[in-house]
Parts: sequence; C-alpha cells; structure tokens
Amino acid sequence: MKIKHIDHIGIAVKSIEQAGKFYTDVLGLTIEDIENVADQKVNVAFLPITDSEIELLESTDPDGPIAKYINARGEGIQHIAFRVDNIEEALEELKKKGVRMIDNEPRGGAGGAKIAFIHPKETGGVLVEICERD
Ligand code: ZN
Repeated sequence: MKIKHIDHIGIAVKSIEQAGKFYTDVLGLTIEDIENVADQKVNVAFLPITDSEIELLESTDPDGPIAKYINARGEGIQHIAFRVDNIEEALEELKKKGVRMIDNEPRGGAGGAKIAFIHPKETGGVLVEICERD
C-alpha cells in the first residue's frame, strides 16, 4: 500500500471550545468546520495544516468511544490517520499480512472520508486509522 501522508491526528478533548483555544489563539490555526459524527457519538473540529489536519474529538455521549477513552486515559492524542489512494486495496493487503483490524470493511468517517482502524495490539499501542478521501 502507498501511504501518501499523515491525514490527521485525532485528539480526544473534553470540550472543543476549551481545548481549541490553544490551537487557535496560541498556534494560530483555524477551526474550519465542526461536524457531528452520530455513529461515533462525537463532534469533530477540523484544523487544517497544509495536507494534514488536527482533529479535536469531543464526545456527545458519556458512553461514546471518546468519552470512554478520556475516562480511561485522559485527554490527549487518540489516533493517527494515514491517507491512502485506495482503502479497499489497503485493507486487502493488511488482511493478507494477517494484521488484526477493528474494521474489516471501510466505514464513513468525518469529512466524507472512508476509514478503517487497525487494532492497537498490532501497532505498539497506537490506534492507527487508514483513510481515503478526495
Ligand atoms: Zn480519524
């Protein structure tokens, strides 16, 4: 598979409004958009930096995956996403290599992306997302 670049870094925060201030007021980035991803029970704020972006992930539900993550590990970097040209081919290759996946099929992510997560047991503890988008 061809990894094109780091698509985004997902950061779990309790509040986009609170945590966003560092990225906007101190680093001078801009929150371009905030999207609700209902099936992940999360609001996602996008802060683009050239080909990549920071995504701030704020739970909308105490039982959502981001709320659970923050309860267990606190706020901080939650996952890293690598962009590929063709996610179906990438998943095929990962399966052939015997890599354990969280998602065996691509699903819809924020920003119209097709995404799939690799199991952190395969990656030295890092939650890795593969994503394809236009
Ligand atoms: Zn992501």
